[in-house]
Amino acid sequence: MSPATRAGAAASPGGRRRPVLRVDPIACDGRGICAELLPELVTLDDWGFPVVDGRPVPRELARLARRAVAACPTLALRLEHEHEHEHELS
Ligand code: SF4
Repeated sequence: MSPATRAGAAASPGGRRRPVLRVDPIACDGRGICAELLPELVTLDDWGFPVVDGRPVPRELARLARRAVAACPTLALRLEHEHEHEHELS
């Protein structure tokens, strides 16, 4: 995993940062709504909890990713941007 991915965002070829999907495993209730809405980026493990791969959200899936985040009933799914981590690190 690259440092940029670990920081929650990664540069696209054009230099703009793209967000990364994250799941808070404590908050998640494992009902899998996110995987139904965004199967391209979210799969479920054997127990029905979501698995995201940590790669930047492709531009063509950004709208669907925001929709999945908005639909998460426990606010466990989120899109992280670089500036969120800059505050955490300072
Ligand atoms: S929608 Fe939210 S609570 Fe439901 S499985 Fe996905 S991350 Fe967990």
